Amino acid sequence: MTVLRSGSASDVGRVRTVNEDLALESPTLFAVADGMGGHAGGEVASHTAIEALQEEFRLHPSVEGLVEAVRHANLAVWERSHEESDLRGMGTTLTAAALVATSDGDRIVMANVGDSRSYRLRDGSLAQLSHDHSVAEELVDRGQLSEAEAAIHPHRHILTRALGVSSDVDPDVWEMAPRQGDRYLLCSDGLSNEVSESRIEKALSSTPDPQEAARKLVQMALDNGGNDNITVVVLDVVVGDERAVTAATENGDLPASAVDALAGAAVVEAASLGTAALQDGAPSPAKATTSVSSLLSRSGTDPASGMRAMTARAAEVSERLRSRRITFRVLAFVVVLAAIVAGGFAVVRWYVDSSYFVKLHQGQVTIYEGRMGGFVGIQPKLVQRTGIAADAVPSAYLQDVENGVEEPSLSASRSYACGLWHIENSVSQGKPPTPKPSVCLPSNSNRKAAKP
Ligand code: MN
Repeated sequence: MTVLRSGSASDVGRVRTVNEDLALESPTLFAVADGMGGHAGGEVASHTAIEALQEEFRLHPSVEGLVEAVRHANLAVWERSHEESDLRGMGTTLTAAALVATSDGDRIVMANVGDSRSYRLRDGSLAQLSHDHSVAEELVDRGQLSEAEAAIHPHRHILTRALGVSSDVDPDVWEMAPRQGDRYLLCSDGLSNEVSESRIEKALSSTPDPQEAARKLVQMALDNGGNDNITVVVLDVVVGDERAVTAATENGDLPASAVDALAGAAVVEAASLGTAALQDGAPSPAKATTSVSSLLSRSGTDPASGMRAMTARAAEVSERLRSRRITFRVLAFVVVLAAIVAGGFAVVRWYVDSSYFVKLHQGQVTIYEGRMGGFVGIQPKLVQRTGIAADAVPSAYLQDVENGVEEPSLSASRSYACGLWHIENSVSQGKPPTPKPSVCLPSNSNRKAAKP
């Protein structure tokens, strides 16, 4: 019998105004999605993907079921993006972990699309399991870039695979045998870009409680700049007979999901599936092409005590949320009032001046300073024409650029524009390359100190 004790945390970060990331923590299915796309797109994309993933996996909790669930999530985002013009071009990353039963026993299955990551901490050492689907990572694969260079490469955010970009998706899928004491980490790039692997390893090794570990990692990313939304899920593998697992989960302060997992684990144990197993522990992703016929039935395990603990925990959590919401509302009111009383102009000016976006203007990719569409009468200012023509924008990004893509800084805007040129020139083999635009050349105002 296997149970995953879990914890999760998410934060909007110090630069962005909206959290487009989303974490999923359920008894046997866990995921992180990092949405993108102008306007509300990113937020809608991550929520749509997670909902669809969960809905489909619940019907087929198996290795193949997870692959199907990722496909289902992709289609949901894709279809939604065609229903509303504001949402066109939205997409999301998705990295997921599931506990499933196979004929060879319990398995942890993972799937990944995009550049959110999964790691495993085993015997104190951390290893990345997922493979980033980004331009920078592809250059590493081709030997044109070192891992260290990739970590600060301006194109590291440009994805080569994402959910919602086309009607079909090709997820990396692999499975592993659960081992007592293993700890898994799912995270958005808001963590991996801010905190080095060795510091993540240290924090995970020194913080036994998964919820506390998740919170600590998010705090570390915030302390390091918090340039992006940060989302973290931590999973601890508990393997043993039912009594041992029950004791482990009742003893001490456990998150509701862990207690809840008792009921979920019963399902896993009772399940009898015919599955052709994939290579165990293979960090290199293998496609799941297995055919699974599943027949699930809930076992007679009494989850009553677990249910009670869960209800108590849920009440506590909702109480905490409520008080936090009230505090936030009061705080927001005070801030708004202070802004009005003080004339507010300085605040507004700062808000406008610290915002940038990339948008098509007269047929070319253009960088603006300010808020899209203006803000209380202050119109955005044209900062730079990049010389990248609309027809040289990769088709998957064209809608985004037409709508406008918000970026936290001028250098981030330049990186984004340069990334467009780069991806177009790396995928359109055969066509003559277009000259490198000035946004791809280093400039003093553009250069950011590389992190050690
Ligand atoms: Mn991100």
